[in-house]
Amino acid sequence: MSRAIYPGSFDPVTFGHLDIIKRSSEMFDELIVGVLYNSAKTPLFSVAERTQMLEEAIREYENVIVICFDGLLIDYMKKHDISVIVRGLRAITDFDYELQIAQSNRKVSDETIDTVFLTTSIDYAYLSSSIVKEYARYGTDVSDFVPSHVAAKLKERFYKMQ
Ligand code: ADP
Repeated sequence: MSRAIYPGSFDPVTFGHLDIIKRSSEMFDELIVGVLYNSAKTPLFSVAERTQMLEEAIREYENVIVICFDGLLIDYMKKHDISVIVRGLRAITDFDYELQIAQSNRKVSDETIDTVFLTTSIDYAYLSSSIVKEYARYGTDVSDFVPSHVAAKLKERFYKMQ
């Protein structure tokens, strides 16, 4: 059975992420979307909130599950017998960082782990969770960028912060 993991912060999930999820779910028997705790960043939403928003967004895909993890991605992968990482590439600016991570993951896993890159659909090339948060913070409608339940959650979060 082919199994892949799509890791990220998903703070919050956008249509760009969902495009990668849809396309990679057609390439593997099972796709695991891994929500990273990531102590280096201060997320707007907790891991539980990010996971719940993703779960609602991927309901239609039978072979996709959402998990959250802390620590090293490759440790999680070894433990759960996953050998492929899926990442999205939006622009050349993503490339340097992604290449470095992919090569080091390959090295530390004794070449048992590979990374598959999907280039973003042109419609979402400009889209990032940070841009969505910035718009939502100032009350701009973000329904073209995220599912409606995520837009509602953003609205609620920024309303509370005012
Ligand atoms: P990270 O903190 O790991 O960058 P993100 O949640 O921002 O987490 O992104 C997770 C993955 O999704 C990354 O591979 C990123 O390049 C990809 N991604 C983010 N936004 C888009 C988009 N608009 N189109 C395609 N891929 C995207």
